[in-house]
Amino acid sequence: MVASPSPRNEPIAGRHRVAVVGGGSAGISVAARLRRAGVTGITLVEPSDSHWYQPLWTLVGGGQAPLRSTRRPEASVVPDGVRWIRRAARAVDPEARTLTLDTGSELAYEYLVMAPGLQLDWDGVPGLAGAMAHDRVCSNYAPEYAPRTWELIKGMRSGTAVFTHPATPLKCGGAPQKIAYLAADHWRRRKVLDHIRVVLVIPDPVLFKVPEWERVLERVARRYGIEVRLSSEMTAVDADRGEVVLTDRANGTAETVPYDLLHAVPPQSAPDWVKRSPLADPASPQGFVAADRHTLRHPRYPTVFTLGDVANLPTSKTGAAIRKQAPVVAANLIDAMAGRRPARRYDGYTSCPLVTARDRMVLAEFDYDLKPAPTFPLIDTFRERRDMWLFKRYALPQLYWRGMLTGRI
Ligand code: FAD
Repeated sequence: MVASPSPRNEPIAGRHRVAVVGGGSAGISVAARLRRAGVTGITLVEPSDSHWYQPLWTLVGGGQAPLRSTRRPEASVVPDGVRWIRRAARAVDPEARTLTLDTGSELAYEYLVMAPGLQLDWDGVPGLAGAMAHDRVCSNYAPEYAPRTWELIKGMRSGTAVFTHPATPLKCGGAPQKIAYLAADHWRRRKVLDHIRVVLVIPDPVLFKVPEWERVLERVARRYGIEVRLSSEMTAVDADRGEVVLTDRANGTAETVPYDLLHAVPPQSAPDWVKRSPLADPASPQGFVAADRHTLRHPRYPTVFTLGDVANLPTSKTGAAIRKQAPVVAANLIDAMAGRRPARRYDGYTSCPLVTARDRMVLAEFDYDLKPAPTFPLIDTFRERRDMWLFKRYALPQLYWRGMLTGRI
């Protein structure tokens, strides 16, 4: 890895063979695979000095993992031989094949991998951005708020706890409800669950889109006595009064619910500069990047590929999906560079480790058709299992740092 400070406003010399925007799960996985395949001339544009393993934030909020174990220095994950420019991209011109960085400098590329993740729209719900400064509001969706989730859960003995889920596409569609189950299980063990009203707000008419797991989750929610509000969303927060407005999406009725704990998941969208760019999919209200759902190549700009949270793909946005997308992008990019037609196909595989208790989990794996796609053929992953919980807590992080980010798996 070669880090470069990139002076202000000066063009970044030469045309870069492959520019990768974003050094998160998706960008690093692709860069590592390209390096393993012998591709040279890769430039990574990434402003942050931290790389986060976000799937563990659910367990941080549940008091089962320290936040520090989810962070590593970005420098430690950038593959050898990749030039790292520690800046943010601010605009892209796919006709001219240039990126504009936050310094004003321009970077010319031959091929582009778009992987800047998504944006948390804290301003998307009136009162929410301000509420995050209040001590009864938390969120596992950002490292600065996830540890507070556990502080609030730990301290609660009675009252109302509200867990929300936005109506936009979001990363890890299961995460907003997993923390409700972790909290309820903790309160059950502490024998205070009977004194706590737990409200879980879900925008869809079902708890989970795949019927096989929906049935399991319904049972779990019933076991804890959770009040599930389907087809509903949080539409306003008044943190001074400790009240949240929940609106029924089917008939528009709104109810104000007082809370003692609010776990808020904000609406999510493509980063603003991506929304404004020609790469945004006109069919995506949130401005996510257009991609052929199988080759992950941009439909109008054949030198652009995309994956991860920023891609407008009809599947759940997860790290597990990226594990299957990264080899497809790398192989198809290599095909494109060699003048061949991209041949590798992504089938929409995604997986969601649905933590249902402090020591239990079901693993939901499915594809574009919402068809279960289990990768553990000998294990019944529809059942709540302790071995699966151990797998999520201990094995998956190791597979991530050592295997996925190095392009081995
Ligand atoms: P990110 O990993 O977010 O990386 C984006 C990168 O782009 C960042 O490094 C950022 O600094 C950089 N960037 C941003 N803007 C710019 C810019 N302008 N220019 C250049 N770089 C930029 N997935 C699972 O598989 N299993 C789970 O159990 C699971 N649980 C989750 C629980 C929670 C609470 C959360 C929040 C996520 C969870 N996920 C889970 C989802 C998973 O973490 C994401 O899908 C994954 O991290 C997305 O990877 P990405 O590379 O697309 O985006």
